Amino acid sequence: MPLLRDVFIKLSENQVLNDATKKMGLRFGANKVVGGITVDDTIERIKDLNSQGMSVSFDNLGEFVTRRSDAIHEKDIILNMINAIGENGVDASASIKLSQIGLNIDYDFCIENITEIMDAAKKHNMFVNIDMENYASYEDTVRVIDHLMERYDNIGTVLQSYLFDAKNDVYKYKDRRIRLVKGAYKEAPAVALQEKEDIDKAFELLIRLHLTKGDGFTSIATHDHNIIEKSIDFIKENDIPNDRFEFQMLFGFRKELQKELVERGYNVCIYIPFGNDWYAYFMRRLAERPQNLNLIVKSVTKDPMFQTGVKAVGALALGAVALKFFNRK
Ligand SMILES: Cc1cc2nc3c(=O)[nH]c(=O)nc-3n(C[C@H](O)[C@H](O)[C@H](O)COP(=O)(O)OP(=O)(O)OC[C@H]3O[C@@H](n4cnc5c(N)ncnc54)[C@H](O)[C@@H]3O)c2cc1C
Repeated sequence: MPLLRDVFIKLSENQVLNDATKKMGLRFGANKVVGGITVDDTIERIKDLNSQGMSVSFDNLGEFVTRRSDAIHEKDIILNMINAIGENGVDASASIKLSQIGLNIDYDFCIENITEIMDAAKKHNMFVNIDMENYASYEDTVRVIDHLMERYDNIGTVLQSYLFDAKNDVYKYKDRRIRLVKGAYKEAPAVALQEKEDIDKAFELLIRLHLTKGDGFTSIATHDHNIIEKSIDFIKENDIPNDRFEFQMLFGFRKELQKELVERGYNVCIYIPFGNDWYAYFMRRLAERPQNLNLIVKSVTKDPMFQTGVKAVGALALGAVALKFFNRK
C-alpha cells in the first residue's frame, strides 16, 4: 500500500497538524501506542509493564529541534523522567534522540545537554541508549557516542541493518550494549540497502555477529516473528545465556508476542514513547504498517461523539422514511 504510506508520511510532516495536536490529549487511538502525555501518566504505564515481567526504555517524543530554548526544555523533561523513575524504583532505561537536545544546533551545546542527562542517569544507575536517526546525522551521532563511551559505562546505541557500514560498527561495538534494528528512515541507495529481503538478511547476520563476537549485550529490536524465531534457534544452538540479550518492541505492538516471549523465559524490553509531540510518531507507525489503521477505526467508533452522530443520522433517516410513508397515505 505505497500510496497510503505516502499519505501518512505527508500527514506526519504537516506542521499545522503537529502544532494543533500538541494541545490535545492523546486522540484517534494514539493512547494505544503512546505511553502518556505527562511523566506521571507514563510512570503508571511503566509500572504496569514491569508487573507483566517487562522492562522499559522511555522516549520523550519530538525530534529535529532547531531552537536552543526548545532543546533545553526537552532536556529538562528527560531529566524529570529520569528522576521520577529513580524515585518510583521502576525498571526503566532512557532512549535519547540527540536531534532533540541540540545536535542540529551546535555540537558542544548537545554535549552539554547529554552530559547532564548521563550524570543524572548514572546517579540512578540507569542505562542510556542513544537512538540512531537519519543518515545525515550519523557521523555527528557517532562522534557524540564515542565521546560518551570514553567517560561512561551506562551508554549504548543503535545499529541500523540497512546501512552498508553497520557490519563494521558491530565489530566496533562488540563489547557494548547495542540495539539492533532494521532501520526506519528512507535512505539513499548509495548508503543503504533498499530491498526488504536484503535488509532482513543483513539484520540476521548482525544479530548473530553481535551475539557471538564480543562480551556485549544484544537488544534485538523487531516485531518480525520470523527473525525472532531464527534468533532463538541460533541462541539455543550456541548456548548463549539469557542475560546476554533481550527482545525489544514498541509499546502497543504485538502485545501477544511480547507476553509469549516473557512466558518462554526471555527478557523483553518495551520502548515507550511519551509526551505531547505524539502526532508525527503516530502517523509514522501508520505509514509503516497501514493495518494499524484499525487502532483509529476502533477508537473513533467507540467515541461517544461518533456514536451520538450515528444515532442522530439514524433518527433523521428513520424520520425521512416515516414522512415519505405518511405523505403517501
Ligand atoms: C524498540 C525499537 C527501537 C527502535 N529504534 C530505532 C532507532 O533508533 N533507529 C531506527 O532507525 N529505527 C528504530 N526502530 C525501528 C526499526 O528500524 C524498524 O523500522 C521497525 O521496527 C519495523 O521493522 P520490524 O523489524 O519491526 O519489522 P517489519 O519489517 O516492519 O515487519 C516484518 C514482519 O513482521 C510482522 N509484523 C510487524 N509488525 C507487526 C504488527 N504490528 N502486528 C503483526 N505483525 C507484525 C509482519 O509479518 C511483517 O511483515 C526501532 C524499533 C524498535 C522495535
